[in-house]
Amino acid sequence: MNDLRIAIVGFGKIARDQHVPAIAATTGARLAAVASRNASLPGVPHFRSLEDLLREGPEIDAVALCMPPQARRAQAATALAARKHVMLEKPPGASVSEITPLVAAAKAAGVTLFATWHSRFAPAVEPARRLLAGRKIEQVTITWKEDVRVWHPGQDWIFEPGGLGVFDPGINALSILTAVLPQPLFVTRAELDFPANRGAPIAAELELSDMNGLPIRAVFDFRQQGLQSWDIAFRTDQGMVTLSSGGARLTDGDTVVTDAKDAEYPGLYRRFVELASEGRSDVDLAPQLLVADAFMLGRRRIVDAFEG
Ligand code: NAP
Repeated sequence: MNDLRIAIVGFGKIARDQHVPAIAATTGARLAAVASRNASLPGVPHFRSLEDLLREGPEIDAVALCMPPQARRAQAATALAARKHVMLEKPPGASVSEITPLVAAAKAAGVTLFATWHSRFAPAVEPARRLLAGRKIEQVTITWKEDVRVWHPGQDWIFEPGGLGVFDPGINALSILTAVLPQPLFVTRAELDFPANRGAPIAAELELSDMNGLPIRAVFDFRQQGLQSWDIAFRTDQGMVTLSSGGARLTDGDTVVTDAKDAEYPGLYRRFVELASEGRSDVDLAPQLLVADAFMLGRRRIVDAFEG
């Protein structure tokens, strides 16, 4: 089978740090072009936009859309209209409703739409799902606290409407939670802290539940200095189970079950190649729906202005 010829569109931090090496490491995938207004990669054909690439570029089969969510829908629609397989970085878009027409467009074009949740490919997530399947879960606590100045320097889009603010990382926790718990979840309460000068929250506290009344509490904060936390703790009938380091490490009580190196993006690309070869799509909107509901239900508090 021929390699899937992939163009990366939007060439910022995640494209450079993760997509380029992951494509290079994936059998059946090849980086065929880059479309970016400002950046290029030596040795790879470069175009200033997706439209230029589609008009003038080498043949491609697929695009990986790595721009901020506010700009993603329009580019996905363009790529699907050109019958290219589409990988969406997370979150899949700036709203929930804009994704459904893309699913229909992919189906009509006979190509793959893959809404990625990279944290679900973290090495301890599937082991956690299997371990928890044999337990009664009594309580869940998510602590997702990072320093936005360290991890997102100069990314003003994150604090614009549609950039999700602290839910940009927080949605990763929700993508893990919705993958490891067996029941659908819903938001029951949310408090959102908006900096006085920004259009998206810098911190949030959520309560969620399921049909069995499972209490879930999530604390997201972008102002964390010092120790950074990307942890989900499950109190079960047989003790504590903890997923930490963003899904890389799993402990069952004092026993370390999994502690592996980050392998999220190679896993994403293996899945993309597989989906494209089978002509199937994979679009799970559960994490995006929870974030949208947090915005719908959330009580808003105005906090100190944030200067990046
Ligand atoms: P970034 O460093 O700001 O890069 C985004 C790139 O998108 C820019 O360099 C720009 O590239 C392009 N772009 C196109 N339209 C744009 C617009 N209207 N406004 C701003 N940039 C635009 O962001 P990133 O960290 O790579 O994040 C991109 C996406 O990946 C986000 O959805 C984010 O949630 C996700 N992600 C990020 C990380 C991370 O650790 N950074 C991890 C996982 C997922 P050109 O100049 O090339 O056009």
